[in-house]
Amino acid sequence: STELLSVNNLVTTFRTADGEIPAVRNISFSVNKSETLCIVGESGCGKSITSLSIMGLLPSNGSIKSGSIQLEGTDLTKLTTDELRKIRGNKISMIFQEPMTALNPVITIGYQLREPLMIHQKLSKQEANQKGIELLKQVGIPYPEKRMTQYPHELSGGMRQRVMIAISLACTPGLLIADEPTTALDVTIQSQILDLIHELQEQLGMGVIMVTHDMGVVAEIADKVMVMYAGEKIEEGPVEEIFNHPSHPYTRGLLSSVPNVDDPDFELEAIPGSTPSLNEQITGCRFHPRCEHALARCKVEVPKEFKIKDGHTVKCWLSEEDAI
Ligand code: SF4
Ligand code: MG
Repeated sequence: STELLSVNNLVTTFRTADGEIPAVRNISFSVNKSETLCIVGESGCGKSITSLSIMGLLPSNGSIKSGSIQLEGTDLTKLTTDELRKIRGNKISMIFQEPMTALNPVITIGYQLREPLMIHQKLSKQEANQKGIELLKQVGIPYPEKRMTQYPHELSGGMRQRVMIAISLACTPGLLIADEPTTALDVTIQSQILDLIHELQEQLGMGVIMVTHDMGVVAEIADKVMVMYAGEKIEEGPVEEIFNHPSHPYTRGLLSSVPNVDDPDFELEAIPGSTPSLNEQITGCRFHPRCEHALARCKVEVPKEFKIKDGHTVKCWLSEEDAI
């Protein structure tokens, strides 16, 4: 099979002064080779915590409570810190909006780019240098030859972010996890980077998980989409299904808050209300306080996950009659 990653019944919690609170509530999904899964939702929905859980990079008060994360047959939740470190930057790479793993300040950009290429792609130093220059060009860095000889502090913040992206991609990971990687970049650079990611997917079969709230990015790169709300997966499906037949009221709200430039009469329709805090006790459907379609049962009965088409699931009572 071409399955790369399989997350099953993942529960991630945080210890706080108010007790243990769940941030990711029993979610399952998978990513195949060469496939792009976009995880979408408002901030605080658990999408970043989901990717940090996979990377084994949860903050110290966070932990995976139950479930499994299988990467090509290895359960990452069973690995030691050392074993996980080896997998990161080799089999899995992550690009952050705010790079958590800072560039090494005392080593040149060139060295930091060549090293993974020499280790993972077995290139000679000269080939790695050439490839490094190419990668810098591809992430929109002018004068790449000169940049190779510079140290991180000689670059602007935006340049450093792009260098980080180039280094993550130089590792040619089997799985790339990108958390809002292009939000701070201008549109041209953003689409250049998305193109580069796509190219590596085709060449190397890299699987991608892209965490984003930008439906434009989703439309451009997703094969499938997982929508999260208040720690739960509330809808998942192939990208055409999600855009053409969004079924959960929250997904429909998210999509209608995207301005449509082709439609002059279009009005931006935000979803009223806000995401509940993680420890908020909500009975029934966690979306019911904001849902204009809520039925009486929604306030008391947790909706089941209904499959309405192959690969398309919805956690909403309204989809019960469409279940296959
Ligand atoms: Fe709305 Fe009920 Fe569906 Fe929840 S289950 S999204 S409250 S209709
Ligand atoms: Mg986030």
